[in-house]
Amino acid sequence: MNNRVHQGHFARKRFGQNFLNDQYIIDSIVAAIHPQRGEAVVEIGPGLAALTEPVGERMDELTVIELDRDLAARLQTHPFLGPKLTIFQQDAMTFDFAALAAERGQPLRVFGNLPYNISTPLMFHLFSYTGSIKDMHFMLQKEVVNRLVAGPNSKAYGRLTVMAQYYCQVIPVLEVPPSAFTPPPKVDSAVVRLVPYTELPHPVKDVRLLSRITMEAFGQRRKTLRNSLSHMVAAGAFEELGIDASLRAENVSVAQFCQLANWLADHQESLKES
Ligand code: SAM
Repeated sequence: MNNRVHQGHFARKRFGQNFLNDQYIIDSIVAAIHPQRGEAVVEIGPGLAALTEPVGERMDELTVIELDRDLAARLQTHPFLGPKLTIFQQDAMTFDFAALAAERGQPLRVFGNLPYNISTPLMFHLFSYTGSIKDMHFMLQKEVVNRLVAGPNSKAYGRLTVMAQYYCQVIPVLEVPPSAFTPPPKVDSAVVRLVPYTELPHPVKDVRLLSRITMEAFGQRRKTLRNSLSHMVAAGAFEELGIDASLRAENVSVAQFCQLANWLADHQESLKES
């Protein structure tokens, strides 16, 4: 039997299509999401509706974003789901989540078994909408979930960790083996819950500077901060902030990265002039 065919649909690799087939895992994910009538729930990549059906059963309406035209058309004619669905046949990477939240008059609850080929850039896209999102539940590669939940002083701790934990509380939910999917992916998977903070624990003046600093620091992970950030942060600033300049990026906490970004916000004009 061709294991790329599921419910009469040929799984498309370029769309990262691995369909859930394990009822226990599906039930566990839906229980973790705990969708309630009246909430503005959005699914990214509904595919063949493995999660859409049980979530849809509990809702009067549900919004889905599906790039694959054939799958979007299939959902449109789904016997009981069809009438409840608002289907956006488009790329989630370009979807305006703020506009949808404004239209629905409440923050969104977003979930999905994400296409792994775009999961990291999609997470960054979603972080820019955290003001319009109540929570997110995503199936991702386990390695990506490990990066999201990592603490400093570990290999998994990186730019994705810092940006995710700047915006959200991150909670691992469930590990999922390849056998739960058709076709099975080559990697282990895991479900994670991200809850955007209503009040940021370490607010920065300009999040683009946090993004830049983490990019520079983790782009050269083996270098000390003194070296990797030498063109952005003056040598004396580390002492001023009480941050050891001989640390490497992976030893620096989210709070400390935010301190550095705020220092840069206050001094970038004078740096340009010098
Ligand atoms: N939710 C289904 C399940 O759990 O069985 C399918 C999950 S499959 C891993 C990922 C789904 O995302 C597919 O249906 C795929 O067509 C869709 N997809 C891929 N790229 C997308 C994108 N850029 N925007 C929206 N959906 C996308």
